[in-house]
Amino acid sequence: MSEKTIFKRIIDKEIPASIVYEDDLCLAFHDVAPQAPVHVLVIPKKELRSLDDVEPEDAPLIGHIFAVIRRLARELGVAEGGYRVVSNCGQNAMQTVPHLHFHLIGGRGFAWPPG
Ligand code: AMP
Repeated sequence: MSEKTIFKRIIDKEIPASIVYEDDLCLAFHDVAPQAPVHVLVIPKKELRSLDDVEPEDAPLIGHIFAVIRRLARELGVAEGGYRVVSNCGQNAMQTVPHLHFHLIGGRGFAWPPG
């Protein structure tokens, strides 16, 4: 069996994280290297390597995660000013942790296109 990712270890509470939300399906915690005043990662507890692993049967899970993101955006005070949700998928997108995650970033202005 392949080694656990760092995010799976956070899910299993083997390493600490600054958790802001948790339920049966997902977990949200502050990014250890924040790129904006608000930078939270929202991850499914199900082990999916990236968005490219998502199957049609995962639609309710992904929908749930986006409802959680919306709720967190409000709780963290970035909903009104606007925020960005990013999921880096694979090598060219510079995904570094092979466990599906959504970055919720806000609290400052962002450029487009991204680098
Ligand atoms: P990505 O480059 O899209 O795969 O994003 C991975 C993110 O995980 C980066 O923003 C890292 O700063 C963040 N990260 C890595 N390890 C941890 C950790 N132990 N706790 C919180 N965030 C982490």
